[in-house]
Amino acid sequence: MAKVTLTPDSGFARELMEAGGESLKKCYQCATCAVACPMAPANHPYPRKEMVWAQWGLKDKLTADPDIWLCHNCGNCAELCPRGANPADVMAAARNVMYKDLCKPAKIGELMSSKKGLFKLFLIPAVLWLVIWAIRAACVGSFFPRTPEGKIVFGQIFYGDYTIDPIFMVTFFGALWIMYKGCSRLWNMFKSNDGKLLVVGPTKPWYVHLVSLLWDEIGSHKKFETCTAGPKTGQPENSRKFGHQCVVYGFVALMIVTAVVAGGHWIGKVIPCLSIHTPMPTMYPVKILANIGAILLLVGLFALTVRRKNQNPKFFSSSYQDWYLLGLIWAIALTGCFSQMFRLFDWVYFAYTVYYLHLVFVWMLFAYLPWSKLGHLCYRTAALLYVRMYGRG
Ligand code: SF4
Ligand code: SF4
Repeated sequence: MAKVTLTPDSGFARELMEAGGESLKKCYQCATCAVACPMAPANHPYPRKEMVWAQWGLKDKLTADPDIWLCHNCGNCAELCPRGANPADVMAAARNVMYKDLCKPAKIGELMSSKKGLFKLFLIPAVLWLVIWAIRAACVGSFFPRTPEGKIVFGQIFYGDYTIDPIFMVTFFGALWIMYKGCSRLWNMFKSNDGKLLVVGPTKPWYVHLVSLLWDEIGSHKKFETCTAGPKTGQPENSRKFGHQCVVYGFVALMIVTAVVAGGHWIGKVIPCLSIHTPMPTMYPVKILANIGAILLLVGLFALTVRRKNQNPKFFSSSYQDWYLLGLIWAIALTGCFSQMFRLFDWVYFAYTVYYLHLVFVWMLFAYLPWSKLGHLCYRTAALLYVRMYGRG
């Protein structure tokens, strides 16, 4: 029989407890949770094995486990655990630790892991955009300028061509590159550990699985219905699917708007008839899509925030990562809406100040994305793709 060497790490177990998995020591391995989980396939059950690995501090096993990304945090396992342990929270804690360690530079992951780092993370874009504001104010002769017609145009200070576009492009594509490296690392970890048990050879090329995954699972959010259909948690879960879908579709609409406006702006320099100018008229189709996206985002955020506030702490807890993401998206949505409102009301000081904060928060969302909970969009997709490719359906 092959020898297996286990390397327990008590520091890792402590890290999991600090990241929200306090209850892991209560588990006595009865496996009720693995039977109760509506998401786990019968031939690859979880979360019992994750509880063992977490208790023992088996970092290599847990961090290379695709199943921690397949958990939808429904809380069914927590409700049925006879020991009052909370596997849902331990799985979430494992993901939180992964957000911290997966991508480089690790220093940002460390700052993102607790509220102690928040001020420094805020300070970086706050100084960056303040310097740009000061330089442009020196050029145009005012911190709160107006056009010759007396209008407020944010582009006078935060000029798209030389400030917003290059800074956000570098930030966004830089974050995508870091996430790509993180996903590659995760994939190699899956293969190096449990992969040996799972692999029966890829069933179809990865891109075929990716298309079907995006179409029938991620776009539809149908797994949330599987969660609802599991054992009773005492919590109606419809708001969860609704809230997630609104936020995702809101983001997609706003990303399309951003791409169209940026494309129209730059292509318009070569083909003037395709040019798009901002601010756009209220009834312009791209503006309408932007407003629909903003409304979806606000409605989804509201649903998710109410759900999180009302959830039963016996079955779920909310980590710093949960509140960081919700708080940041709220800050982006509100500063975006209020900056437009103040511009329309012609309140020049408020308009520029709130727009400046909006840029700071948007930059934080993009720049710190690989270390934030939003990164699960990519990491969970990688795990789902992996298990589909290697025969788990
Ligand atoms: S149900 Fe509770 S005690 Fe049983 S294995 Fe799961 S976490 Fe451990
Ligand atoms: S929280 Fe839900 S999906 Fe996650 S392990 Fe528990 S029962 Fe399964």
